[in-house]
Amino acid sequence: MKFTERLKTGKKVYSFEFYPPKTAEDTAKLFTNAVELLKLSPDFVSVTNSSSGVTPYRTVALCGVLKAQFGLEVVAHLTCLAHTRTEIAEILSGLKKMEITNVLALRGDPHNVEAGARRRDYNYAAQLIADLKAAGGFAIGGACYPEKHPEAPGLEADIARLKEKVDAGAEYLITQLFFDNDCYFRFLEKTAAAGINVPVLPGLMPVTSYKQMQNFTKLMKVCIPEALRAGIERWEGDKDGMFKFSVEYASAQAEALLKGGAPGLHLYTLNRSRAAMAILKNVKGEALK
Ligand code: FAD
Repeated sequence: MKFTERLKTGKKVYSFEFYPPKTAEDTAKLFTNAVELLKLSPDFVSVTNSSSGVTPYRTVALCGVLKAQFGLEVVAHLTCLAHTRTEIAEILSGLKKMEITNVLALRGDPHNVEAGARRRDYNYAAQLIADLKAAGGFAIGGACYPEKHPEAPGLEADIARLKEKVDAGAEYLITQLFFDNDCYFRFLEKTAAAGINVPVLPGLMPVTSYKQMQNFTKLMKVCIPEALRAGIERWEGDKDGMFKFSVEYASAQAEALLKGGAPGLHLYTLNRSRAAMAILKNVKGEALK
């Protein structure tokens, strides 16, 4: 089923994001998490796609297992950098056979690409989206950046590019993680003014360390509100304290987003479901009544 059908009903949509594990041990852990996740009835789980192109079918394979074995609705990420046009056509045919009808189209990050694996049939996500749309039968999503994509010259220019993705066929958008809800709500105003009227699912991630927080600012250029920074500094080195603080921060953020009209939540889990599940448990009590 296309989860976008649920979005159309106005009911909140909850989702988790995973990446394909590399070892047997990590795979076993992920499947244990999947059993736990089922109890929270997520509307979908999404599976990232490495831009390396080294194992291009790992995403598809994991999506197939999560759907067939665990009954989870899945969204397969597809990237321009990992796949040629021919591979995309093969993947779509495989997804259709598995009755997977949700995809998220991304460019991928060049710095993730290992030597020799870079593909250039598609330069931007909008081009991939156009092909996915032409293939038919898929609910297609794209990424968006409330604090602008790091390479974009400005937020307005980035939103103009985002409009191209929606015009090409993106039916929903999922945001880059952010920690200041004002950025999300201001972004919604600007995208609406630009004529973008598809649901924008906010992406949230609980911060687990000072180093991780530094990476967010350095690589993703997202801003860290003072209250979050102070909490991370306060609890650095205390695992339990950090966990509690970061779940509380993200839960408060999530509740305010839902209250403010966000269509749901997309939780970046890094395959460690404990914090994401705690957040969803906190908000579901309120939001799903
Ligand atoms: P695009 O929409 O192509 O935009 C990239 C940049 O190019 C932007 O600055 C945009 O303004 C600009 N641009 C767009 N079109 C044009 C044009 N015609 N001319 C000039 N400039 C243009 N990465 C992975 O490798 N695998 C994943 O599974 C993955 N999942 C993600 C999930 C989410 C929800 C998000 C938010 C990101 C994800 N990423 C993933 C990261 C993503 O690949 C990077 O952020 C990447 O740098 C941009 O991808 P995009 O699809 O937004 O690119």
